[in-house]
Amino acid sequence: MKTTTRVVVIGGGVVGCSVLYHLTKLGWSDVMLLERNELTSGSTWHAAGGFHTLNGDTNMAALQGYTIRLYKELEAITGMSCGLHHVGGVTLADNRDRMDMLVAERAKHRYMGLETEIVTPEEIAKIAPVTNTAGIIGGLYDPLDGHLDPSGTTHAYAKAARMGGATIETHCKVLETNQRPDGSWDVVTDKGTVHAEHVVNAAGLWAREVGAMAGVYFPLHPMEHQYIVTEDVPLILDMAKDGLEHPHVMDPAGESYLRQEGRGLCIGFYEQPCRPWAVDSTPWDFGHELLPDDFDKIEDSIAFAYRRFPALEKAGVKSVIHGPFTFAPDGNPLVGPVPGMRNYWSACAVMAGFSQGGGVGLMLAQWMIEGETERDTFAMDCARFGSWVTPGYTRPKVIENYQKRFSVSYPNEELPAARPLRTTPMYDIFDQMGAVWGAQYGLEVPNYFAQDDEPRYETPSFRRSNAWAATAREVQAVRQAVGINEVQNFGKYRVCGANARAWLDRIMAGRVPAPGRLSLTPMLSEKGRLIGDFTISCLAEDQFTLTASYGAQDFHMRWFQRHAEAGVRVENISDRLTGFQIAGPLARDVLAACTRCDVAALRFMDVARMTIGMVDCVVQRVSYTGDLGYEIYCDPMAQRALWQALWAAGQPMGMRPFGMRAMMSLRLDKFFGSWGREFSPDYTPAETGMDRFIAWKKPTQFIGRAAAEAERAQGPARQLVTFEVDATDADVVAYEPIWMGDQVVGFCTSGGYSHHAGKSIAYGFVPSDQLRDDLQVEIEVLGQRLPARRITTALFDADGARMRG
Ligand SMILES: Cc1cc2nc3c(=O)[nH]c(=O)nc-3n(C[C@H](O)[C@H](O)[C@H](O)COP(=O)(O)OP(=O)(O)OC[C@H]3O[C@@H](n4cnc5c(N)ncnc54)[C@H](O)[C@@H]3O)c2cc1C
Repeated sequence: MKTTTRVVVIGGGVVGCSVLYHLTKLGWSDVMLLERNELTSGSTWHAAGGFHTLNGDTNMAALQGYTIRLYKELEAITGMSCGLHHVGGVTLADNRDRMDMLVAERAKHRYMGLETEIVTPEEIAKIAPVTNTAGIIGGLYDPLDGHLDPSGTTHAYAKAARMGGATIETHCKVLETNQRPDGSWDVVTDKGTVHAEHVVNAAGLWAREVGAMAGVYFPLHPMEHQYIVTEDVPLILDMAKDGLEHPHVMDPAGESYLRQEGRGLCIGFYEQPCRPWAVDSTPWDFGHELLPDDFDKIEDSIAFAYRRFPALEKAGVKSVIHGPFTFAPDGNPLVGPVPGMRNYWSACAVMAGFSQGGGVGLMLAQWMIEGETERDTFAMDCARFGSWVTPGYTRPKVIENYQKRFSVSYPNEELPAARPLRTTPMYDIFDQMGAVWGAQYGLEVPNYFAQDDEPRYETPSFRRSNAWAATAREVQAVRQAVGINEVQNFGKYRVCGANARAWLDRIMAGRVPAPGRLSLTPMLSEKGRLIGDFTISCLAEDQFTLTASYGAQDFHMRWFQRHAEAGVRVENISDRLTGFQIAGPLARDVLAACTRCDVAALRFMDVARMTIGMVDCVVQRVSYTGDLGYEIYCDPMAQRALWQALWAAGQPMGMRPFGMRAMMSLRLDKFFGSWGREFSPDYTPAETGMDRFIAWKKPTQFIGRAAAEAERAQGPARQLVTFEVDATDADVVAYEPIWMGDQVVGFCTSGGYSHHAGKSIAYGFVPSDQLRDDLQVEIEVLGQRLPARRITTALFDADGARMRG
């Protein structure tokens, strides 16, 4: 066995083999895979082998599309068969919400180049005759759906990797992973030790155990899953006579997926009475056996399936496959460089290995070899969960995710499991004031405040929800008097030391402010993509605080650590600094009423220390609401005292608390973008207008400078613009197509309703060569093409008089 290699991939399931292949494809041939048994000995061998592109996250859907297209390439390279059956698939809808969801998916597919189609019940009956279409109102047909041979496909990946120079060692169990001081790894196996520069954990069912060898907790959990294969079915035999294969049918109402298997059918269920498996750890002696059949837990699902697919009832059962596979709390994979670790990579929790495995392999190989991925991978980045995640959180979340696998996902939906987990000292005060809670990165955050006569629950919907009136009230309070909310849900970092300014100058593309001042700046990757939008606050020459997205804490810290330098200390203080923002025309008066400091002297973008009430605070004069506003930071231990001071001063001035729904409406008035929507690694500064914050004149070679300058010289091919949309009951959420004539020319990044202006607003990308101030387009919202006009003047405080005054 080889004893040194560049990369050791642990695990020879479909994911490990895909990672290995993609490493060779992108140019690293000195790579090795270690498998404790035979290839496919985890979840992979008993998978049903189905694949599909449908995924609520657009980037995940694109990667699923890549995976599916890859199989033909694999067959061509290796001469092996993946056992492909491109039979197409239809997802059924039996109510308006499900139909809305499918129509929204179809809309996204337009600019992704996916040829899906909305079909009627009559068409479904023809395409998928095994279906009883009673009660069905429509469906989404995807010609790319199909199934394959899981074992053949895994071996094809393995062969293609070997052809690219990779080595595969089977019957070689990894026992330990020990890091050397230089960051490389000794991978200890039962056949000896391999020294590797990088380790990839692709251990599937055993990913938790393999992670623990390096001291890492991976938030994933195995769940039991069952599918049934029937004896021959007459309808399928008839179709076969005509050379036809039955397509896949996903029936979300019945929580089932069905396809042809041989001359019979195969049906699997995501049943409600589901069961987590191997709660504390996965046994090492588990491998090629199955779990005992369990018809009790799928009894209701089977009864439903008999009604939807009557042919099933008469078909004999040929075999039952019941096995475990792993999920992360949100159902997406855990991929990428593990935060806090050097040269340790994750390719775990891939719950749909045959839809996602190719994309996971490609993204990980790009990350390892090129330093970044070609697209935004945040939806599957292992950095999206912080150190707050525990097994006690993961398990109920994974159960919830399994149960909701086929449920409608609404854009405004808040999932209830494992909550509340993290709360601030304001939790009970806000709760008594009627807070309707959302969860961000494990933290409870008020979405809005319901009045006594309003329900404490926002109805999940694709249309305007019952939060409408409350949001309007809160927006009005900010614009007409003063609003208050917490600043807990910002990511916050302290950067200090003799080298702090020089370091920030290199890490951030924008200006680093002088003491007493703030600046806004993009952070760029080497390839000039947006990986952060930060506010930098300078309290002293060697002391800075950064604020950015709360959910990106591990993502940003990982980047800071990768670029660590002597003479600068970077700390994540997100939960050590909290406070409030107050915003609105009376915000200054509120502040002045509870401090003896000179509030009037604080100019827009100034920062100063102040004692407010009894509490020492840092006050920044800036507000994401676009209004006159202050962010006031304090020690969490004193947050309630700060609240008492501000609230007491604010009451006579009409102060109201406001939540995230109002905040996201208010930002629209000033065309402010938001992280993960307008600003993400999918986009560049010039495309999004963030280039206005780049300090082109600074002499520093900041990261991404060359790429940003090249783009500046050439001009971006597309640009982000704001539209007013003629919407009546549903606003833009994200990824809706933008039409000009009969062409889709772009897509939306986000939108919503401006309660201040009484307008429906959308942000979206359009080709630069089509840009005009009076641009008119149509935006497709829930299947309707709505007229939309570009707007270039802010809806509130266009001259900045209030914000800066
Ligand atoms: C009943 C069922 C039906 C399914 N149907 C589908 C489907 O239709 N479509 C689909 O896309 N997905 C399906 N899946 C899910 C699919 O099986 C998984 O997504 C996929 O197999 C995950 O692959 P993996 O490589 O991540 O993990 P695994 O297949 O679990 O592979 C991990 C490998 O790592 C090895 N390993 C672990 N620890 C060590 C160690 N210490 N040293 C060396 N080697 C080690 C294991 O032996 C194993 O071979 C189904 C799953 C089940 C249970």
